[in-house]
Amino acid sequence: SVIAAVMVGRRVRSRRRWWKVVKVVDEFEENAVTSVGRLRQVVDAMAVEMHAGLASEGGSKLKMLLTFVDNLPDGTESGTYYALHVGGTNFRILRIQLGGQRSILGHDVERKPIPQHLMTSTSEELFDFIALSLKEFVEQKGNNLQIPQVRGKDIGFTFSFPVKQTSVSSGTLIKWTKGFAIEDMVEKDVVDCLQKALARRGLDMNVAALVNDSVGTLALGHFYDKDTVAAVVIGTGTNACYFERADAVIKCQGLLTTSGGMVINMEWGNFWSSHLPRTSYDIDLDAESQNPNDQGFEKMISGMYLGDIVRRVIHKISLESDIFGPVSSKLSARFALSTPLLAAMHEDDSPDLKEVARILEETLDIHDVSLKVRKLVVKVCDVVTRRAARLAAAGIVGILKKIGRDGTGGITSGRTKGGKSGKMRRTVVAVEGGLYTSYTMFREYLNEAVAEILGEEIAPYVILKVMEDGSGIGSAMLAAANSARSVDTVQ
Ligand code: BGC
Repeated sequence: SVIAAVMVGRRVRSRRRWWKVVKVVDEFEENAVTSVGRLRQVVDAMAVEMHAGLASEGGSKLKMLLTFVDNLPDGTESGTYYALHVGGTNFRILRIQLGGQRSILGHDVERKPIPQHLMTSTSEELFDFIALSLKEFVEQKGNNLQIPQVRGKDIGFTFSFPVKQTSVSSGTLIKWTKGFAIEDMVEKDVVDCLQKALARRGLDMNVAALVNDSVGTLALGHFYDKDTVAAVVIGTGTNACYFERADAVIKCQGLLTTSGGMVINMEWGNFWSSHLPRTSYDIDLDAESQNPNDQGFEKMISGMYLGDIVRRVIHKISLESDIFGPVSSKLSARFALSTPLLAAMHEDDSPDLKEVARILEETLDIHDVSLKVRKLVVKVCDVVTRRAARLAAAGIVGILKKIGRDGTGGITSGRTKGGKSGKMRRTVVAVEGGLYTSYTMFREYLNEAVAEILGEEIAPYVILKVMEDGSGIGSAMLAAANSARSVDTVQ
Protein backbone atom coordinates (compact mmCIF):
# COMPACT_ATOMS: atom_id res chain seq x y z
CA SER A 1 0.00 0.00 0.00
CA VAL A 2 3.00 2.26 0.55
CA ILE A 3 4.10 1.51 -3.00
CA ALA A 4 0.59 2.20 -4.28
CA ALA A 5 0.53 5.55 -2.46
CA VAL A 6 3.90 6.51 -3.99
CA MET A 7 2.61 5.59 -7.44
CA VAL A 8 -0.54 7.65 -7.01
CA GLY A 9 1.52 10.57 -5.75
CA ARG A 10 3.75 10.36 -8.81
CA ARG A 11 0.80 10.25 -11.15
CA VAL A 12 -0.78 13.27 -9.51
CA ARG A 13 2.49 15.21 -9.70
CA SER A 14 2.98 14.24 -13.31
CA ARG A 15 -0.56 15.26 -14.19
CA ARG A 16 -0.08 18.54 -12.38
CA ARG A 17 3.17 19.30 -14.17
CA TRP A 18 1.62 18.43 -17.54
CA TRP A 19 -1.28 20.71 -16.72
CA LYS A 20 1.18 23.56 -16.12
CA VAL A 21 2.85 22.89 -19.46
CA VAL A 22 -0.45 22.86 -21.29
CA LYS A 23 -1.34 26.13 -19.61
CA VAL A 24 1.83 27.83 -20.90
CA VAL A 25 1.22 26.60 -24.44
CA ASP A 26 -2.50 27.40 -24.42
CA GLU A 27 -1.88 30.88 -23.13
CA PHE A 28 0.72 31.44 -25.82
CA GLU A 29 -1.64 30.20 -28.50
CA GLU A 30 -4.47 32.40 -27.27
CA ASN A 31 -2.32 35.51 -27.24
CA ALA A 32 -0.91 34.70 -30.67
CA VAL A 33 -4.35 34.33 -32.21
CA THR A 34 -4.79 35.29 -35.85
CA SER A 35 -8.48 34.78 -36.50
CA VAL A 36 -9.63 36.18 -39.81
CA GLY A 37 -11.35 39.00 -37.91
CA ARG A 38 -8.06 39.94 -36.28
CA LEU A 39 -6.25 39.74 -39.63
CA ARG A 40 -8.78 42.09 -41.21
CA GLN A 41 -7.99 44.62 -38.49
CA VAL A 42 -4.33 44.29 -39.39
CA VAL A 43 -5.20 44.78 -43.09
CA ASP A 44 -7.02 48.01 -42.27
CA ALA A 45 -4.25 49.22 -39.98
CA MET A 46 -1.67 48.56 -42.69
CA ALA A 47 -3.64 50.57 -45.26
CA VAL A 48 -4.17 53.43 -42.78
CA GLU A 49 -0.47 53.54 -41.87
CA MET A 50 0.48 53.55 -45.55
CA HIS A 51 -1.63 56.65 -46.07
CA ALA A 52 -0.10 58.28 -42.99
CA GLY A 53 3.46 57.47 -44.08
CA LEU A 54 2.79 58.99 -47.51
CA ALA A 55 1.13 62.07 -46.04
CA SER A 56 4.11 63.41 -44.11
CA GLU A 57 7.68 62.58 -43.21
CA GLY A 58 7.53 60.72 -39.89
CA GLY A 59 3.73 60.47 -40.17
CA SER A 60 3.85 56.76 -39.44
CA LYS A 61 6.19 54.01 -38.31
CA LEU A 62 5.96 52.98 -41.96
CA LYS A 63 8.58 55.10 -43.65
CA MET A 64 7.16 54.73 -47.16
CA LEU A 65 10.48 55.66 -48.77
CA LEU A 66 10.89 57.03 -52.27
CA THR A 67 13.00 54.81 -54.52
CA PHE A 68 13.24 56.98 -57.65
CA VAL A 69 12.36 53.87 -59.62
CA ASP A 70 9.57 55.16 -61.83
CA ASN A 71 9.76 52.59 -64.58
CA LEU A 72 9.99 48.88 -64.05
CA PRO A 73 11.78 46.52 -66.45
CA ASP A 74 9.53 45.30 -69.22
CA GLY A 75 11.69 42.62 -70.81
CA THR A 76 13.32 44.74 -73.51
CA GLU A 77 16.58 45.24 -71.56
CA SER A 78 19.77 43.79 -73.02
CA GLY A 79 23.48 43.60 -72.16
CA THR A 80 25.64 42.26 -69.31
CA TYR A 81 25.15 43.61 -65.82
CA TYR A 82 26.39 42.87 -62.35
CA ALA A 83 24.62 43.03 -59.05
CA LEU A 84 25.82 42.97 -55.48
CA HIS A 85 23.49 42.09 -52.69
CA VAL A 86 24.20 42.89 -49.06
CA GLY A 87 21.45 42.39 -46.60
CA GLY A 88 20.91 39.15 -44.81
CA THR A 89 22.92 36.17 -43.84
CA ASN A 90 24.55 35.85 -47.24
CA PHE A 91 26.32 38.23 -49.51
CA ARG A 92 25.64 37.60 -53.19
CA ILE A 93 27.30 38.59 -56.43
CA LEU A 94 25.52 38.07 -59.71
CA ARG A 95 26.18 38.57 -63.36
CA ILE A 96 23.35 38.41 -65.83
CA GLN A 97 23.13 38.70 -69.55
CA LEU A 98 19.89 40.10 -70.83
CA GLY A 99 18.87 39.38 -74.37
CA GLY A 100 15.77 41.54 -74.80
CA GLN A 101 12.39 39.88 -75.35
CA ARG A 102 12.06 38.89 -71.71
CA SER A 103 15.05 36.60 -71.90
CA ILE A 104 17.89 36.05 -69.47
CA LEU A 105 20.68 34.48 -71.52
CA GLY A 106 23.17 33.91 -68.74
CA HIS A 107 23.09 34.00 -64.99
CA ASP A 108 26.00 33.39 -62.60
CA VAL A 109 25.64 33.72 -58.86
CA GLU A 110 28.04 33.42 -56.02
CA ARG A 111 26.91 33.31 -52.40
CA LYS A 112 29.18 33.93 -49.45
CA PRO A 113 28.23 34.15 -45.81
CA ILE A 114 29.12 37.58 -44.42
CA PRO A 115 31.67 36.98 -41.65
CA GLN A 116 29.92 37.76 -38.37
CA HIS A 117 32.55 40.27 -37.23
CA LEU A 118 32.02 42.40 -40.35
CA MET A 119 28.41 43.05 -39.39
CA THR A 120 29.52 45.11 -36.44
CA SER A 121 32.91 46.45 -37.55
CA THR A 122 33.55 49.55 -39.68
CA SER A 123 32.06 50.56 -43.02
CA GLU A 124 35.50 50.45 -44.59
CA GLU A 125 36.05 46.82 -43.58
CA LEU A 126 32.61 45.74 -44.77
CA PHE A 127 32.92 47.48 -48.13
CA ASP A 128 36.49 46.24 -48.62
CA PHE A 129 35.22 42.70 -48.22
CA ILE A 130 32.49 43.40 -50.77
CA ALA A 131 34.85 45.02 -53.28
CA LEU A 132 37.42 42.26 -52.95
CA SER A 133 34.78 39.57 -53.43
CA LEU A 134 33.50 41.35 -56.53
CA LYS A 135 37.01 41.64 -57.91
CA GLU A 136 37.61 37.91 -57.47
CA PHE A 137 34.26 37.13 -59.08
CA VAL A 138 34.94 39.36 -62.09
CA GLU A 139 38.40 37.87 -62.54
CA GLN A 140 37.10 34.30 -62.27
CA LYS A 141 34.46 34.97 -64.84
CA GLY A 142 37.23 36.13 -67.13
CA ASN A 143 35.70 39.46 -67.91
CA ASN A 144 38.43 41.80 -69.02
CA LEU A 145 37.44 45.16 -67.69
CA GLN A 146 40.04 46.92 -69.77
CA ILE A 147 37.72 46.49 -72.74
CA PRO A 148 35.97 49.82 -73.09
CA GLN A 149 32.53 48.37 -72.79
CA VAL A 150 30.76 50.77 -70.48
CA ARG A 151 27.57 48.78 -70.21
CA GLY A 152 29.38 45.72 -68.85
CA LYS A 153 30.58 47.74 -65.90
CA ASP A 154 27.25 48.84 -64.56
CA ILE A 155 26.25 47.44 -61.22
CA GLY A 156 22.97 47.23 -59.41
CA PHE A 157 23.61 47.45 -55.70
CA THR A 158 20.99 45.76 -53.57
CA PHE A 159 21.30 47.04 -50.06
CA SER A 160 18.56 45.59 -47.91
CA PHE A 161 18.28 48.17 -45.18
CA PRO A 162 16.25 51.36 -44.83
CA VAL A 163 17.85 53.99 -47.05
CA LYS A 164 16.77 57.54 -47.69
CA GLN A 165 17.35 57.78 -51.40
CA THR A 166 18.36 61.01 -53.04
CA SER A 167 18.30 59.54 -56.56
CA VAL A 168 18.05 56.12 -58.12
CA SER A 169 21.77 55.66 -57.51
CA SER A 170 22.40 57.39 -54.19
CA GLY A 171 21.07 57.40 -50.67
CA THR A 172 21.96 57.42 -47.01
CA LEU A 173 21.47 54.65 -44.48
CA ILE A 174 18.72 55.53 -41.99
CA LYS A 175 19.42 52.73 -39.51
CA TRP A 176 20.59 49.15 -39.38
CA THR A 177 18.34 46.13 -38.92
CA LYS A 178 18.83 42.34 -38.73
CA GLY A 179 21.79 42.34 -36.39
CA PHE A 180 24.02 44.67 -38.40
CA ALA A 181 25.45 47.53 -36.37
CA ILE A 182 28.21 49.55 -38.01
CA GLU A 183 27.84 52.90 -36.34
CA ASP A 184 29.98 54.95 -38.70
CA MET A 185 27.72 54.00 -41.63
CA VAL A 186 24.52 55.53 -40.34
CA GLU A 187 23.53 58.59 -42.39
CA LYS A 188 26.37 57.97 -44.84
CA ASP A 189 25.86 57.59 -48.57
CA VAL A 190 26.08 53.86 -49.20
CA VAL A 191 26.92 54.17 -52.89
CA ASP A 192 29.75 56.54 -52.08
CA CYS A 193 31.17 53.96 -49.62
CA LEU A 194 30.95 51.21 -52.22
CA GLN A 195 32.31 53.34 -55.02
CA LYS A 196 35.34 54.30 -52.90
CA ALA A 197 35.99 50.67 -51.96
CA LEU A 198 35.82 49.65 -55.63
CA ALA A 199 38.31 52.36 -56.50
CA ARG A 200 40.67 51.17 -53.72
CA ARG A 201 40.62 47.74 -55.33
CA GLY A 202 41.16 49.21 -58.79
CA LEU A 203 37.75 48.24 -60.11
CA ASP A 204 36.37 50.66 -62.63
CA MET A 205 32.69 49.93 -62.17
CA ASN A 206 29.76 52.20 -61.80
CA VAL A 207 26.82 51.80 -59.44
CA ALA A 208 23.89 52.60 -61.73
CA ALA A 209 21.12 51.65 -59.29
CA LEU A 210 20.85 51.45 -55.52
CA VAL A 211 18.02 49.07 -54.79
CA ASN A 212 16.21 47.65 -51.80
CA ASP A 213 15.78 43.86 -52.11
CA SER A 214 12.00 44.20 -52.24
CA VAL A 215 12.37 46.64 -55.14
CA GLY A 216 14.66 44.22 -56.99
CA THR A 217 12.05 41.52 -56.50
CA LEU A 218 9.35 43.80 -57.90
CA ALA A 219 11.56 44.60 -60.88
CA LEU A 220 12.07 40.92 -61.73
CA GLY A 221 8.39 40.20 -61.17
CA HIS A 222 7.47 42.97 -63.59
CA PHE A 223 10.05 41.81 -66.12
CA TYR A 224 8.14 38.55 -66.41
CA ASP A 225 4.61 39.72 -65.78
CA LYS A 226 3.30 43.26 -66.21
CA ASP A 227 0.46 42.69 -63.75
CA THR A 228 3.00 42.60 -60.90
CA VAL A 229 2.16 45.52 -58.65
CA ALA A 230 3.92 44.72 -55.39
CA ALA A 231 6.71 42.61 -53.93
CA VAL A 232 7.35 41.10 -50.55
CA VAL A 233 10.53 39.72 -49.03
CA ILE A 234 10.33 37.28 -46.13
CA GLY A 235 13.83 36.12 -45.33
CA THR A 236 16.17 37.08 -42.52
CA GLY A 237 14.19 40.32 -42.43
CA THR A 238 10.94 41.31 -44.05
CA ASN A 239 9.75 44.15 -46.23
CA ALA A 240 7.43 45.10 -49.07
CA CYS A 241 7.25 47.64 -51.86
CA TYR A 242 4.66 48.54 -54.48
CA PHE A 243 4.00 50.89 -57.35
CA GLU A 244 2.23 54.06 -56.20
CA ARG A 245 0.73 56.99 -58.09
CA ALA A 246 2.91 60.11 -57.78
CA ASP A 247 -0.03 62.25 -56.67
CA ALA A 248 -0.66 59.91 -53.73
CA VAL A 249 2.77 60.73 -52.34
CA ILE A 250 1.49 63.81 -50.53
CA LYS A 251 4.69 64.36 -48.56
CA CYS A 252 6.51 65.01 -51.81
CA GLN A 253 4.31 67.46 -53.68
CA GLY A 254 5.02 67.83 -57.36
CA LEU A 255 7.06 64.62 -57.52
CA LEU A 256 8.11 64.38 -61.13
CA THR A 257 8.22 60.95 -62.68
CA THR A 258 8.17 59.86 -66.28
CA SER A 259 5.45 57.30 -65.64
CA GLY A 260 3.25 59.21 -63.20
CA GLY A 261 4.16 56.77 -60.47
CA MET A 262 7.02 55.48 -58.37
CA VAL A 263 7.95 52.39 -56.44
CA ILE A 264 7.63 53.00 -52.71
CA ASN A 265 9.79 51.03 -50.31
CA MET A 266 7.43 50.60 -47.37
CA GLU A 267 9.92 49.24 -44.83
CA TRP A 268 6.99 47.30 -43.45
CA GLY A 269 9.23 45.51 -40.97
CA ASN A 270 8.74 48.57 -38.79
CA PHE A 271 4.93 48.48 -39.07
CA TRP A 272 3.14 48.53 -35.75
CA SER A 273 -0.48 48.29 -34.67
CA SER A 274 -2.25 47.50 -31.42
CA HIS A 275 -4.12 44.81 -33.39
CA LEU A 276 -0.98 42.71 -33.74
CA PRO A 277 -1.23 39.65 -31.48
CA ARG A 278 1.76 40.30 -29.30
CA THR A 279 2.82 37.94 -26.51
CA SER A 280 5.15 38.29 -23.53
CA TYR A 281 7.80 36.42 -25.56
CA ASP A 282 7.70 39.09 -28.26
CA ILE A 283 8.03 41.80 -25.64
CA ASP A 284 11.11 40.13 -24.13
CA LEU A 285 12.64 39.44 -27.53
CA ASP A 286 12.25 43.09 -28.46
CA ALA A 287 13.62 44.39 -25.17
CA GLU A 288 16.74 42.23 -25.48
CA SER A 289 17.31 43.02 -29.15
CA GLN A 290 19.86 45.36 -30.72
CA ASN A 291 17.02 47.63 -31.86
CA PRO A 292 14.30 47.76 -29.18
CA ASN A 293 11.00 49.39 -30.25
CA ASP A 294 12.00 49.06 -33.88
CA GLN A 295 11.01 46.52 -36.53
CA GLY A 296 8.08 45.20 -34.50
CA PHE A 297 6.35 43.50 -37.44
CA GLU A 298 9.64 42.00 -38.60
CA LYS A 299 10.25 40.53 -35.16
CA MET A 300 6.98 38.56 -35.41
CA ILE A 301 7.49 37.42 -39.01
CA SER A 302 11.02 37.01 -40.26
CA GLY A 303 13.70 34.35 -40.21
CA MET A 304 16.01 36.15 -37.86
CA TYR A 305 13.47 35.89 -35.05
CA LEU A 306 11.04 32.98 -35.39
CA GLY A 307 13.43 30.36 -34.04
CA ASP A 308 14.14 32.57 -31.09
CA ILE A 309 10.46 32.94 -30.21
CA VAL A 310 10.17 29.14 -30.12
CA ARG A 311 13.28 28.95 -27.95
CA ARG A 312 11.74 31.38 -25.50
CA VAL A 313 8.54 29.38 -25.18
CA ILE A 314 10.47 26.14 -24.62
CA HIS A 315 12.58 27.92 -22.03
CA LYS A 316 9.48 29.09 -20.18
CA ILE A 317 8.03 25.56 -20.19
CA SER A 318 11.32 24.22 -18.94
CA LEU A 319 11.31 26.68 -16.05
CA GLU A 320 7.75 25.73 -15.09
CA SER A 321 8.15 21.96 -15.27
CA ASP A 322 10.73 19.24 -15.68
CA ILE A 323 9.42 17.75 -18.91
CA PHE A 324 12.64 18.80 -20.64
CA GLY A 325 14.78 17.54 -17.73
CA PRO A 326 17.03 20.00 -15.89
CA VAL A 327 16.89 23.49 -17.43
CA SER A 328 19.51 23.52 -20.19
CA SER A 329 21.79 26.56 -20.20
CA LYS A 330 21.49 26.62 -24.01
CA LEU A 331 17.85 27.57 -23.58
CA SER A 332 18.72 30.95 -22.22
CA ALA A 333 21.11 31.81 -25.06
CA ARG A 334 19.61 34.22 -27.60
CA PHE A 335 19.30 32.79 -31.09
CA ALA A 336 20.34 29.30 -29.91
CA LEU A 337 17.59 27.89 -32.10
CA SER A 338 17.70 29.11 -35.69
CA THR A 339 14.66 29.35 -37.95
CA PRO A 340 15.84 26.63 -40.40
CA LEU A 341 15.95 24.26 -37.42
CA LEU A 342 12.51 25.37 -36.30
CA ALA A 343 11.29 24.58 -39.83
CA ALA A 344 12.98 21.17 -39.76
CA MET A 345 11.22 20.30 -36.48
CA HIS A 346 7.90 21.62 -37.72
CA GLU A 347 8.11 19.58 -40.91
CA ASP A 348 9.39 16.38 -39.32
CA ASP A 349 7.06 13.74 -40.67
CA SER A 350 8.69 10.68 -39.10
CA PRO A 351 6.25 8.80 -36.83
CA ASP A 352 8.44 9.17 -33.75
CA LEU A 353 9.60 12.72 -34.54
CA LYS A 354 13.24 11.70 -34.76
CA GLU A 355 14.35 14.99 -36.21
CA VAL A 356 12.74 16.92 -33.36
CA ALA A 357 14.59 14.75 -30.83
CA ARG A 358 17.89 15.19 -32.69
CA ILE A 359 17.59 18.97 -32.90
CA LEU A 360 16.58 19.29 -29.26
CA GLU A 361 19.60 17.22 -28.33
CA GLU A 362 22.18 18.75 -30.61
CA THR A 363 21.25 22.40 -30.40
CA LEU A 364 19.53 22.81 -27.07
CA ASP A 365 21.14 20.04 -25.05
CA ILE A 366 17.76 18.54 -24.18
CA HIS A 367 17.83 14.75 -24.07
CA ASP A 368 15.46 11.78 -24.09
CA VAL A 369 12.12 13.53 -24.27
CA SER A 370 8.98 11.50 -24.79
CA LEU A 371 6.94 11.55 -27.97
CA LYS A 372 4.26 13.54 -26.17
CA VAL A 373 6.81 16.26 -25.39
CA ARG A 374 8.18 16.24 -28.94
CA LYS A 375 4.64 16.77 -30.21
CA LEU A 376 4.31 19.70 -27.91
CA VAL A 377 7.45 21.25 -29.38
CA VAL A 378 6.00 20.82 -32.87
CA LYS A 379 2.86 22.53 -31.67
CA VAL A 380 4.87 25.54 -30.47
CA CYS A 381 6.66 25.70 -33.84
CA ASP A 382 3.29 25.60 -35.54
CA VAL A 383 1.83 28.47 -33.54
CA VAL A 384 4.86 30.69 -34.21
CA THR A 385 5.03 29.92 -37.93
CA ARG A 386 1.31 30.14 -38.51
CA ARG A 387 1.07 33.52 -36.83
CA ALA A 388 4.03 34.85 -38.84
CA ALA A 389 2.68 33.64 -42.17
CA ARG A 390 -0.83 34.92 -41.49
CA LEU A 391 0.40 38.35 -40.42
CA ALA A 392 2.48 38.62 -43.59
CA ALA A 393 -0.66 37.67 -45.53
CA ALA A 394 -2.61 40.45 -43.82
CA GLY A 395 0.18 42.87 -44.73
CA ILE A 396 -0.08 41.86 -48.38
CA VAL A 397 -3.84 42.35 -48.43
CA GLY A 398 -3.28 45.72 -46.70
CA ILE A 399 -1.21 46.84 -49.70
CA LEU A 400 -3.84 45.56 -52.11
CA LYS A 401 -6.47 47.49 -50.19
CA LYS A 402 -4.43 50.69 -50.38
CA ILE A 403 -4.16 50.43 -54.17
CA GLY A 404 -7.73 49.29 -54.69
CA ARG A 405 -6.89 45.70 -55.62
CA ASP A 406 -8.55 43.89 -52.74
CA GLY A 407 -11.86 43.62 -54.52
CA THR A 408 -13.76 45.99 -52.25
CA GLY A 409 -14.41 48.08 -55.36
CA GLY A 410 -16.35 45.17 -56.83
CA ILE A 411 -15.74 42.81 -59.72
CA THR A 412 -16.42 43.75 -63.32
CA SER A 413 -19.15 41.69 -64.89
CA GLY A 414 -16.85 40.35 -67.59
CA ARG A 415 -14.02 39.69 -65.15
CA THR A 416 -11.71 41.14 -67.75
CA LYS A 417 -8.12 42.10 -67.36
CA GLY A 418 -7.69 45.84 -67.11
CA GLY A 419 -11.19 46.55 -65.80
CA LYS A 420 -12.17 50.06 -64.78
CA SER A 421 -10.49 51.54 -61.73
CA GLY A 422 -11.81 50.11 -58.50
CA LYS A 423 -12.83 46.93 -60.28
CA MET A 424 -10.92 43.77 -59.69
CA ARG A 425 -8.09 42.97 -62.06
CA ARG A 426 -5.52 40.24 -62.25
CA THR A 427 -2.97 41.20 -59.61
CA VAL A 428 0.44 39.65 -59.10
CA VAL A 429 2.60 39.97 -56.01
CA ALA A 430 6.23 38.85 -56.35
CA VAL A 431 7.64 37.07 -53.31
CA GLU A 432 11.22 36.35 -52.29
CA GLY A 433 13.02 35.10 -49.20
CA GLY A 434 13.70 31.73 -47.67
CA LEU A 435 10.65 31.57 -45.45
CA TYR A 436 8.33 31.66 -48.41
CA THR A 437 10.51 29.86 -50.95
CA SER A 438 11.92 27.06 -48.78
CA TYR A 439 9.55 26.56 -45.87
CA THR A 440 6.50 24.79 -47.24
CA MET A 441 4.31 25.09 -44.15
CA PHE A 442 4.97 28.81 -43.98
CA ARG A 443 4.10 29.27 -47.65
CA GLU A 444 0.93 27.23 -47.32
CA TYR A 445 -0.24 29.14 -44.26
CA LEU A 446 0.44 32.43 -46.01
CA ASN A 447 -1.36 31.49 -49.23
CA GLU A 448 -4.28 30.09 -47.28
CA ALA A 449 -4.63 33.26 -45.20
CA VAL A 450 -4.51 35.56 -48.26
CA ALA A 451 -7.36 33.54 -49.78
CA GLU A 452 -9.25 33.50 -46.50
CA ILE A 453 -9.06 37.27 -46.05
CA LEU A 454 -9.92 38.08 -49.67
CA GLY A 455 -12.74 35.58 -49.89
CA GLU A 456 -13.31 33.01 -52.61
CA GLU A 457 -14.63 35.44 -55.20
CA ILE A 458 -11.61 37.77 -55.14
CA ALA A 459 -8.82 35.34 -54.24
CA PRO A 460 -8.47 33.87 -57.76
CA TYR A 461 -7.48 37.30 -59.10
CA VAL A 462 -4.52 37.57 -56.73
CA ILE A 463 -1.45 35.55 -57.60
CA LEU A 464 1.65 35.21 -55.47
CA LYS A 465 4.69 34.38 -57.56
CA VAL A 466 8.05 33.25 -56.26
CA MET A 467 10.96 35.26 -57.67
CA GLU A 468 14.06 33.25 -56.90
CA ASP A 469 17.06 35.61 -56.53
CA GLY A 470 14.72 38.43 -57.56
CA SER A 471 16.41 40.94 -55.31
CA GLY A 472 19.71 40.52 -57.15
CA ILE A 473 18.56 39.86 -60.71
CA GLY A 474 15.99 42.66 -60.51
CA SER A 475 18.67 44.99 -59.25
CA ALA A 476 20.91 44.19 -62.25
CA MET A 477 17.88 44.90 -64.45
CA LEU A 478 17.38 48.27 -62.82
CA ALA A 479 21.07 48.95 -63.43
CA ALA A 480 20.33 48.14 -67.07
CA ALA A 481 17.35 50.47 -67.13
CA ASN A 482 19.41 53.26 -65.63
CA SER A 483 22.67 52.64 -67.42
CA ALA A 484 21.88 55.09 -70.24
CA ARG A 485 21.71 57.86 -67.68
CA SER A 486 24.93 56.70 -66.04
CA VAL A 487 26.72 56.51 -69.39
CA ASP A 488 25.81 60.15 -69.91
CA THR A 489 27.32 61.13 -66.59
CA VAL A 490 30.34 58.85 -66.87
CA GLN A 491 31.43 60.01 -70.29
C1 BGC B 1 15.18 45.88 -43.92
C2 BGC B 1 14.61 46.06 -45.31
C3 BGC B 1 14.76 44.79 -46.10
C4 BGC B 1 14.18 43.61 -45.34
C5 BGC B 1 14.32 42.29 -46.06
C6 BGC B 1 14.61 44.64 -43.27
O1 BGC B 1 15.24 44.41 -42.04
O2 BGC B 1 14.91 47.00 -43.13
O3 BGC B 1 15.22 47.14 -45.99
O4 BGC B 1 14.11 44.92 -47.33
O5 BGC B 1 14.82 43.49 -44.08
O6 BGC B 1 15.64 41.98 -46.35
